[in-house]
Amino acid sequence: MSGEASRPAPREDLRELAGYHSPQVDVDVRLNTNESPFGPPDAFVDRWLGALRSVAWNRYPDRAATELRRALGRFLGQPPARLLCGNGSNEVLQTLLLTYGGARRRALMFEPTYALHAQIARGTGTEVVAGERRADYTIDPDAAVALVEEVRPSVVFVCSPNNPTGTVEPRATIERLAGAAAEAGAVLVVDEAYGEFAPWSALELVNEKLPLVVVRTYSKVWSLAAVRLGFAVAPTWMIAELEKVLLPYNLSVPTQIAGTIALDFREEMDRRVAALVEERGRVFAALAATEGVDAVPSGANFVLFRVNGDAHDLWKRLLARNVLVRDFSSWPSVEGSLRVTVGTRDENDAFLAALAETLPEVV
Ligand code: PMP
Repeated sequence: MSGEASRPAPREDLRELAGYHSPQVDVDVRLNTNESPFGPPDAFVDRWLGALRSVAWNRYPDRAATELRRALGRFLGQPPARLLCGNGSNEVLQTLLLTYGGARRRALMFEPTYALHAQIARGTGTEVVAGERRADYTIDPDAAVALVEEVRPSVVFVCSPNNPTGTVEPRATIERLAGAAAEAGAVLVVDEAYGEFAPWSALELVNEKLPLVVVRTYSKVWSLAAVRLGFAVAPTWMIAELEKVLLPYNLSVPTQIAGTIALDFREEMDRRVAALVEERGRVFAALAATEGVDAVPSGANFVLFRVNGDAHDLWKRLLARNVLVRDFSSWPSVEGSLRVTVGTRDENDAFLAALAETLPEVV
């Protein structure tokens, strides 16, 4: 028997799955994965490491993450029973799909959007149905509601601010989609991984009557991408369903402690958000004033821009100058575009300088 023949085949419906591709290259200026350019405050690290000394390492963690959920609940003005925590918001999204998606069920999303919504849906055996966005990348509420009625999905995804476009959906669109989801027996998932950078949040719409869940992360604003912590804010009955599916003891003790202590640094984090929003304005204005690129207005910590030339070539030339951005040049609906994360002032200057040098070579 050949070696090939002895390899068990993965599920038939996973054959087309490509995996997650975002090159991790060692460069001076890394602006490709929308992380915070700042590490967490030293005082946070000190308190965290101090707390780790008295952990009962031989015991499993608190399965309910009681302290973390209590602190997060206080922080958000929500009861802990409305919170579910996971290893990054990706695990929370996966739990949502394991619970409400699956075989013979559909997930509806509006492309271009965060690739992992479709990826995780497929991984859970959920059929993916893609709606379109308007030319300005907003969702057309009438068309979206009609699509929900037609497709009868079990899960509807809206990413706001949307990755990779930065587009913030107006409250009216989310309200209409939540209503349509309720009518169709679907869950509306609003992915707010970048919610802190936006002018409004769907968190204020979460209540016991709507099948609406807002998903957030510690990976961006809280400077804790390395920890892997995200959470859902949802009606208590939805959290109760999700808890049945979540793996027991999913959140390590260090993760739970990090998430709890981080919340004591709110003021520092608010200052960082304000600084990044200001820098976003500066980067956007510079791009808008640059001939040869068209920047998309953003409510997140990144800016998408279309290149009136060979965008992939530009990406390579930026990389050769030690600046790594995200290459969306061959993505449907954002063809010819690159996405730059807003970094420190120096990093943004380095990006803009490298762009000014390389752009004339490709347009
Ligand atoms: N949602 C969106 C829209 C994202 O861009 C990301 C990170 N790239 C995530 C969720 C996942 O974040 P994490 O798992 O780190 O919380």
